[in-house]
Amino acid sequence: MEYSGDLRTLTKTVFRDGVLASEIVKLIRGYWDLLRSNGIEEVKIMNFCGTHEYTSTHYGIRSILPRGVTLIAGPGCPVCITPSFYVESAVKLALEGLTVYTYGDSYRLPAVKEIEGCKSLSDARMMGADVRVVYSFLDAAKDAAKHTNPSTFLAVGFETTCPAYASALASGLVPNNLTLIMAGRLTPPAARFAVERVGTVSGVIAPGHVSTITGAGVWRFLPEEYRIPTVVAGFEPIDVLIAVALILRQMVEGDTRLMIEYSRTVTMEGNTRAKRVLSQVFDIVDAAWRGIGFIENSGYALKENFREHDAFEQNGMKEPSWEEWSHDLLPGCICGQVILGAAKPTDCRLFMKGCTPGTPYGPCMVSAEGACSIWARMGGREAVAEVP
Ligand code: SF4
Repeated sequence: MEYSGDLRTLTKTVFRDGVLASEIVKLIRGYWDLLRSNGIEEVKIMNFCGTHEYTSTHYGIRSILPRGVTLIAGPGCPVCITPSFYVESAVKLALEGLTVYTYGDSYRLPAVKEIEGCKSLSDARMMGADVRVVYSFLDAAKDAAKHTNPSTFLAVGFETTCPAYASALASGLVPNNLTLIMAGRLTPPAARFAVERVGTVSGVIAPGHVSTITGAGVWRFLPEEYRIPTVVAGFEPIDVLIAVALILRQMVEGDTRLMIEYSRTVTMEGNTRAKRVLSQVFDIVDAAWRGIGFIENSGYALKENFREHDAFEQNGMKEPSWEEWSHDLLPGCICGQVILGAAKPTDCRLFMKGCTPGTPYGPCMVSAEGACSIWARMGGREAVAEVP
């Protein structure tokens, strides 16, 4: 798309323009008719990122797509996939007297095991623990520098958030009394895992924010190894519609490749400075994803020379190994399937019954990027699930 001028104004006009949306939907319908005439009955497109799921749901994009073109959520919500063990560890440390810093959504993230009657950091704070909600890791570092109490930060996030941890550590901005429970994860291995598990993904809308850091090139394996059309897209409704149209067009033309729709931010190479600082501070290791299990080379772990800031090492704790990891969802919660796009939030019998945004039972109901939370906040079962 060609554009010029102020991006914020454009976002409100061009990228949310109803007339433009109608034209793109006409294109989508045209491509879909061609695909149907070739015997294709269903196209499943995974919108990997939680923010794409928000856009798709908030703007009712599913309701204007042809029947047969389905958008499914992917594992792109960092809070949803943070292993319960990390929450339990943060709660334990908080109850032992450490100051625990967390983002607002991880604050309410429910664990599987109760620690002294607490299932979340929010519970621990109600029990008198020193749990502080911060907007950024730097805020936590600045605050920890004002006191001497041992402290830890529940460091949730993908490639977008982890450079902030890395750069603060590499620049010496993290005080000695602050450690990290490092829950950072890499998204491409999870995308590989998801498309292999679901097996029927026809296209992927790859995450724009992540690709800004990593570069779009990290998604090449999807078209090259799995023959899945892949479009790195922005987060406005027009972005998502264009991505759907481009995926369908690739299917019509039999031309499977990686495309960048979000070219106003994303390049093939990404942010080289951010990537450099990430590799300076973190090793890439096999890591657990909540409700899913271990995924090869999908986690960030502090390198040897930053281990003084490793919460587990400094507090005599040990992460469960691949062999020790066990299913970490509460009974009845199907977040593992929702995260992999194998089930919709409304397929869960607890959706808006035992699990609501006000009283989240599972991890996908907590964060603004969690599919269950998004579907619940946008109107629940009727408004979102099956709008014709
Ligand atoms: S509705 Fe709640 S319990 Fe069900 S899958 Fe979603 S988060 Fe889990």
